Amino acid sequence: MYETKYHKASSVADAVSLIGKSDDGKLLSGGQTLVPTMKARLAAPSDLVDVSGIADMHGVSISGSTVTIGAATTHANVAGNADLQAKCGGVACLAAGIGDPAVRHKGTIGGSIANNDPAADYPAAMLALDATIKTNAREIAAADFFVGMFETALEEDEVIVSISFDAPAKAAYAKFPNPASRYAMVGVFAAQTVDGARVAVTGAGDDGVYRQFDMEAALDTDWSPNALAGVQVGSEGLLSDMHGDATYRANLVKVMTRRAVAGCA
Ligand SMILES: Cc1cc2nc3c(=O)[nH]c(=O)nc-3n(C[C@H](O)[C@H](O)[C@H](O)COP(=O)(O)OP(=O)(O)OC[C@H]3O[C@@H](n4cnc5c(N)ncnc54)[C@H](O)[C@@H]3O)c2cc1C
Repeated sequence: MYETKYHKASSVADAVSLIGKSDDGKLLSGGQTLVPTMKARLAAPSDLVDVSGIADMHGVSISGSTVTIGAATTHANVAGNADLQAKCGGVACLAAGIGDPAVRHKGTIGGSIANNDPAADYPAAMLALDATIKTNAREIAAADFFVGMFETALEEDEVIVSISFDAPAKAAYAKFPNPASRYAMVGVFAAQTVDGARVAVTGAGDDGVYRQFDMEAALDTDWSPNALAGVQVGSEGLLSDMHGDATYRANLVKVMTRRAVAGCA
């Protein structure tokens, strides 16, 4: 075993201080990605700074049209929040479809977006909703936050505190899950926002989450699944792997967008 020092942070300031003092520390939230990575010896942090007990980083709050979710809020608590279900059911529904019950009861929204797995679900919602990621140091727009596959704009030791977005008029998420992992083969979050239609795709892009501008243009003219019939989705820039090639994923992008728009509430 590699030796790792475990610290339980009591506040955001405490987490920032502990991680700053460590040699090669890592923040720990739900541990659903980091712990398996350590077990596989792909990471060996000198220190683990656990943010899961920081009260300010928990819960969903709604003020007017603004929804704020604490970074350490588990997927299960996002999925089960009645206010969020009423205000933006698409995000609650997305959280309910992540992994399995064990993953949902430990894994957190902050850990998920910090990890920015190209097949993770939350990045699609964050990008489509033009969410703002608040850290201990600044606010980052989702469009600037997701930089590429497993890459974000976070500086070393920067702590995500919360995520906020304006509730859209309508929104829904449709995912074609990998039958083994439940990660997205393709997942599409579609939203009708004050800035128009927004469609963001996860699981398909070879550089992570992206917006599908042609679909957005079609939906701006006519918000209905039928409006997407004439939109061509090419396979350039899409992932090919053992689960499906780029042409297969291109078709799934179209099918999942139709399903998301049809399911919008
Ligand atoms: C079997 C299985 C199935 C899964 N299926 C899905 C799925 O269907 N869809 C999906 O989207 N995900 C899926 N996941 C991933 C899951 O959603 C995890 O919750 C997510 O990957 C990481 O969240 P976490 O809270 O566990 O983060 P951790 O594992 O604790 O941390 C992950 C990374 O984020 C960093 N980090 C954590 N919190 C913060 C913070 N507040 N600020 C800055 N950096 C931070 C950590 O340092 C680490 O680098 C699955 C995982 C497993 C094990």
